[in-house]
Amino acid sequence: RAKKQGRNQVCFFEDEMQQKFHQRLKVEIDLRTAIEKNQFHLHYQPVIDPANEHVTGFEALLRWNIDGRLRSPCDFIEIAEETHQISMIGLWVIEEAISTLSKWNRKRAMPFTMSINVSAIQLGDLTIVKSFKNLLEKYQVPAELIEIELTETALFKDTLTTRQVIEGITGLGCRLSLDDFGTGFSSIAHLRNYPISIVKIDKSLMPKNRCDLKRAALIEGLVSMAGILGIDIVAEGIETQAHADLCKDLQIQSVQGFYYSHPVAQLDIEKSHFLQ
Ligand code: C2E
Ligand code: MG
Ligand code: MG
Ligand code: MG
Repeated sequence: RAKKQGRNQVCFFEDEMQQKFHQRLKVEIDLRTAIEKNQFHLHYQPVIDPANEHVTGFEALLRWNIDGRLRSPCDFIEIAEETHQISMIGLWVIEEAISTLSKWNRKRAMPFTMSINVSAIQLGDLTIVKSFKNLLEKYQVPAELIEIELTETALFKDTLTTRQVIEGITGLGCRLSLDDFGTGFSSIAHLRNYPISIVKIDKSLMPKNRCDLKRAALIEGLVSMAGILGIDIVAEGIETQAHADLCKDLQIQSVQGFYYSHPVAQLDIEKSHFLQ
């Protein structure tokens, strides 16, 4: 009986694996036509100066509208990276974000910034530098307004091409931002090795409650370290008044989080007070 049960478990396991495999395959196939079918959209999350609550810029976050539901990047970015489809998708993201910024900045005295997430795979291809250059010219956007967000895993592949791409992009004048800071193992080493202007403190470092003095101290330490290195800080995951107050107290320049705004569709941003 035990043997039979064991075999059933194996079957169950195989079924599950097969199901996962098919799901992945379906995502991969669906991704191939997502651009031409207009299934991608960007949502934009306001970046706020906590001192006066003014919007200083936006982060572009990819959404995939397929079979009547909106999929979050967690469901497909990894697959797109493994299949290298992220290069095409990423290029679409870059053009969409830059053209939107151009539109939003048209009548503004103080222009907004735009943060764009770029995956490790995209750093493995030198043509991305040329793409950035062409798109900034096409939409008349100053490179200084563009912040390229990289994660630690992206920098981990320390190849010659990665370095050349990073040099190329910063050479254009774009700023480099280290995303999810504090979740990896070698974050601090990267600050020494790459021309990083901005560090985004990961949301997991925000204090859980008033007694969470360890996290608060850690953030305070990061803020003073960044100050010494001349690096700007963006705090992610501001969900409560207490988080906002902590950032104000520490004089953090920029914050993002549900407390201020969720990521919002382009049309809804344009109907909101954010662009005023
Ligand atoms: P990320 O770049 O760290 O983006 C921040 C994520 O945190 C977003 O999730 C955002 O919706 C969420 N978030 C914002 N404020 C809060 C908050 O107060 N609390 C909590 N719990 N979460 C908050 P999203 O949009 O699901 O994106 C997840 C990740 O997918 C991003 O993390 C980024 O690594 C990746 N991603 C998104 N768009 C792109 C893209 O166009 N290209 C690439 N390569 N990756 C992308
Ligand atoms: Mg990001
Ligand atoms: Mg992040
Ligand atoms: Mg992330």
